[in-house]
Amino acid sequence: MSDLRFDNKVVVITGAGRGLGKAYALFYGSMGAKVLVNDNGCDLDGKNTNPQFADEVVATIKSKGGIAVANYDSVLNGDKIIGHAIKEFGRLDVLINNAGILRDKILAKLTEEDWDIVVKTHLYGTFSVTKAAWPIMRDQGYGRIVNTSSGSGLYGTLGQTNYAAAKAGIVGLTLTLAKEGERRNILCNVLVPVGASRMTETIMPPDVLTGIDPNNLTPILAVLTHESNKEYNGGIYECSGGFFSRVRWQRTEGVSLDLPVKISEVQKNWAKINDFSGKNEYPTGNADLFNKVQENLERLEQQ
Ligand code: NAD
Repeated sequence: MSDLRFDNKVVVITGAGRGLGKAYALFYGSMGAKVLVNDNGCDLDGKNTNPQFADEVVATIKSKGGIAVANYDSVLNGDKIIGHAIKEFGRLDVLINNAGILRDKILAKLTEEDWDIVVKTHLYGTFSVTKAAWPIMRDQGYGRIVNTSSGSGLYGTLGQTNYAAAKAGIVGLTLTLAKEGERRNILCNVLVPVGASRMTETIMPPDVLTGIDPNNLTPILAVLTHESNKEYNGGIYECSGGFFSRVRWQRTEGVSLDLPVKISEVQKNWAKINDFSGKNEYPTGNADLFNKVQENLERLEQQ
């Protein structure tokens, strides 16, 4: 299998001035894409702005013969970012929502402002840029979107209620868009990365940071966002340091109880409700639960 190229494709990457997004931008730029490098250059906590980082990435792409333009808008202004890409390149094929900040504090110390700015940057930012990109992708019948979540959003992490809530929200948003976009050939997936950046450099030792070079995340982006991907949609992919895997929900076999439900019946069946060693299921939609309800109602009717 050969490397996947993106000639004549227009790729928008948010937060691409530093860290993981920078690696993504340099990758797409080296593979023939026209890249809009978005980054407002803020501090890790979201304060201040600086155009320098997006400029540097664009300069690097251009110095290697690639095509790129810098954009300094906040992801809260998705219209401006997508409008800029369309004005510059005339189309839009791939969107990587990646920009992010941190305000880590335990809940007792977290302020409303800490909550708002983190949820807004990650979740509203992803919504805002995607909302602007969507009609373009829908009308052309083509689009590939990757949104960025985190292990915090899937599992929770101490001191990250704001970040985890936003990152879990991005999962729900993306799984819904995967369903909405399917008929229009817009495929949406979630990346759960770990990579060396200012977000991780203070919490991981140097040898680990070397092992989680963000350049090793670009191959999965290539696979998911290339036009040859016609099938993989609504996936949640954990990737880091050369490890790649897909995550899904798992439901225990559970129990269907008689109505009205008695506390004693829930207590009696508690072990089974919690038992993942039985006949597990892997639900992919609300209908799965409604089917369970239907089955139970039919069972009760026949009693
Ligand atoms: P980073 O801080 O190195 O880069 C993020 C970039 O986003 C910065 O350059 C910043 O200026 C930009 N940005 C922030 N707010 C913005 C806004 N409102 N508008 C435009 N640009 C903005 O962080 P990173 O580690 O490269 O993280 C990239 C993404 O991956 C984030 O969404 C992060 O939550 C996620 N993530 C990272 C890790 C990791 O191990 N680094 C783990 C899980 C998830």
